[in-house]
Amino acid sequence: MFQFNLWGQVFDVEVVMDNGANDKRINFVYMGDGYTEMQQTNFINDAQSAIDAQFNFTPYKEYKNFFNAFAIKVISNEEGVDHPQSIPEDTPYGDYDDCQAFLILTADTYFNSTFDYNGIHRLLVPINNTAIYDVLSTNTPFYDQINIIVNTGEYGGSGGAFATTSIHASANLIMIHEIGHSFADLADEYWAGEQYAAEKTNMTQETDPALVKWKNWIGDENIGIYAHGSSPPQSDWHRPHQSCMMKQLNGQFCAVCREATIDQIYTLVTPIDNFLPVENTVDFDGSDLNFSVDLILPEPNTLEIEWFIDDISYATEVDNITLTDTEITDETHVISVNIEDTTTLSRTYTFASGYLFSLSWSINNTLSVEENQIQKFLYKVYPNPTQNHLNFSYTAEYVQEPFTLLISDLQGKKIQAKTFTPENGTHEFSFDVNNLETGIYMLNIKASHYNRSFKFIKE
Ligand SMILES: [Zn+2]
Ligand SMILES: [Zn+2]
Repeated sequence: MFQFNLWGQVFDVEVVMDNGANDKRINFVYMGDGYTEMQQTNFINDAQSAIDAQFNFTPYKEYKNFFNAFAIKVISNEEGVDHPQSIPEDTPYGDYDDCQAFLILTADTYFNSTFDYNGIHRLLVPINNTAIYDVLSTNTPFYDQINIIVNTGEYGGSGGAFATTSIHASANLIMIHEIGHSFADLADEYWAGEQYAAEKTNMTQETDPALVKWKNWIGDENIGIYAHGSSPPQSDWHRPHQSCMMKQLNGQFCAVCREATIDQIYTLVTPIDNFLPVENTVDFDGSDLNFSVDLILPEPNTLEIEWFIDDISYATEVDNITLTDTEITDETHVISVNIEDTTTLSRTYTFASGYLFSLSWSINNTLSVEENQIQKFLYKVYPNPTQNHLNFSYTAEYVQEPFTLLISDLQGKKIQAKTFTPENGTHEFSFDVNNLETGIYMLNIKASHYNRSFKFIKE
């Protein structure tokens, strides 16, 4: 069989932010368009400035250590950008006067970026997708997020597969907004037009506070259900906040958008950078046994660590343990560690949701020796309060142990239970709570080394 590889051009790559191994980090790649060979220093400065702004902005700031950033020095034949001035009238997204003030009509650039895309003055889009992916696969095949900086001072940008901005004075904030679209799949919280209206984490047609997807935040941090306008179609669609970064550049990400970003971070990576021993089984020969995890820390650190011997808690708050022959016998044991992110930025524990990562090792077991795998279990229970259903959704990787969900009353009397071994991927099921009397109940989530209880209200 013949295989043809179409390689893109090789360019210099600068590592602008290095927090560790690429395969354990989310890799942001910045590329310039409309920068000539002589202007590559400008490009690196512009990329550095965008990266500094991005990682001083919550929640990227707190999770900075989970990211690396690279800048590819893509060389264009000419500086600038295409500006066809093809919309001879003012629109809500730009005036024709501003558009005409920029005189460059065509520029020979590597990704062929253009303004006036799709009939919108300020929509700035790199057109040559093939060139973008060729450059990435040749220079930084490990990329997770593609950010393109176009060498023009005019205001503009776009989201989608590539977060794109110019070098306008607001460009760094525009880039953070566009990365909100392309990294966390967020909607605009301003009205961008009916063609962009869709059910998203931060956009919905649901108006019932008991059912809306950001129910867990309502009433806090100014989260509510705000219509996009007073008449249809705007009045049919709602946002969670009135001044989120996804609405206006002088805002912060609202709680709902912040949480979606952290969810996406933990969908892509775990906080466990390395661990020892590497294998999943260990022979005990009488000498001390060491177990350790190397963690990627949020700032401030919101990770909690707990070690177990079999089902017994052994130590907390330490990243390594040493077991001596008085603690281990010739019998079979399982050593486990749970790492949990208790950040309040994503409302962990206010009602049932969690970011759980764990490892376990068997001692003196006859299991075949294999490389150990980090087990990931991200879950959410919603809504609370509830009338009809209590939904449990989870995303799992490599989880071996069964979990039990138990609904009981406040006296501990069991009402419903379900035991399941999490399957890889994202799954959801729901408990029918229609027949419960109104009042307060408990939900208990339990595995051999995990035990959390939450109260919920049946309305
Ligand atoms: Zn937007
Ligand atoms: Zn928001």
